[in-house]
Amino acid sequence: MKLSFLSLFPEIIQAYFRVGIIGRAVQSNILTIECINIRDFATNRYKKVDNQLIGGGAGMLLEPYVLDLTLRRLKDSRIIFLSPCGATFTHKDSKRLSTYSHISFVCGRYEGFDERIIEMYATEIFSIGDFVLTGGELSALCIADSMLRYKEGVLGNAESLEGESFESNLLESPNFTKSKAFDALYNIPPVSEFSSGNHAAIKKLKQSMANMKTQYFRPDLLRSSLYKDA
Ligand code: SAM
Repeated sequence: MKLSFLSLFPEIIQAYFRVGIIGRAVQSNILTIECINIRDFATNRYKKVDNQLIGGGAGMLLEPYVLDLTLRRLKDSRIIFLSPCGATFTHKDSKRLSTYSHISFVCGRYEGFDERIIEMYATEIFSIGDFVLTGGELSALCIADSMLRYKEGVLGNAESLEGESFESNLLESPNFTKSKAFDALYNIPPVSEFSSGNHAAIKKLKQSMANMKTQYFRPDLLRSSLYKDA
C-alpha cells in the first residue's frame, strides 16, 4: 500500500512513520510513504502558496493553482481532502480504506481550500470531529494510523483486533492485568472469575461488561447503524 501526503509541513508526517508498529510496516515494505511539500510546486519567485479570500475577511486560502499542479500526478490514487466540512471518519471507513492500494491525503492550512479544487480532485472528504485544527496533518495521520491497523501484516498479532471498540457496535470490555504489585499496594482481593483461568467464563464475563460499558458511555452505538457491518 502507498500513502501520499500533500502538506506544507511534511516533517510532521515523516516523523510519525519512523516509530512504533507503523514505522516497522514501512521498514518491512508493507507500506510506502510519500511526503509531498506543496510549496515545491509554487511557481512564483517567493514560493507563495496562499491567496486572499474573495469578498475579504480574515485569513487566506491555499492557492488552488499550486494545489492543482501538486495533485495532477496523483489522479490515479484515492484522493482524500481533510476538512471540518467532511463526513466524520468512522471505524467502518477505517476498515474500508485499508483495502485501497494508493491513497493521497490533502492537508489544508490557513482557512483551507478553494472549493473548486475539492470539486475537481476529491474522491472523499473527511473530518475527524466537530472542532477546528490549524492544519490537516493530524487528521490525515489519525486516519492513516487507524486504517493501517487493518492492513495485513501491520499488527504483530491480528487477534488484537478482535473484540475491539466499535466492532459489533460495542466498546471494548474493561481490561485488567495480573499485577500482584498493584493489587498488594491497594489491598485488592482477587476476583474469582478472573483469577480462575477459565477462559470461557472470562469471555462471557467480558462480553457482559462490554455491553454494560457501551450502555453507560455510548448508548448511541447500540442504536447506530454507523458501525454495523464494520
Ligand atoms: N476555515 C475552515 C472551516 O472553518 O471549516 C477551517 C480551516 S482549518 C483552520 C485548516 C485546515 O485544518 C483545514 O483545511 C483542514 O485540512 C484541517 N482541519 C481542521 N479541522 C479539521 C477537522 N475537524 N477534521 C479534518 N481536518 C481538519
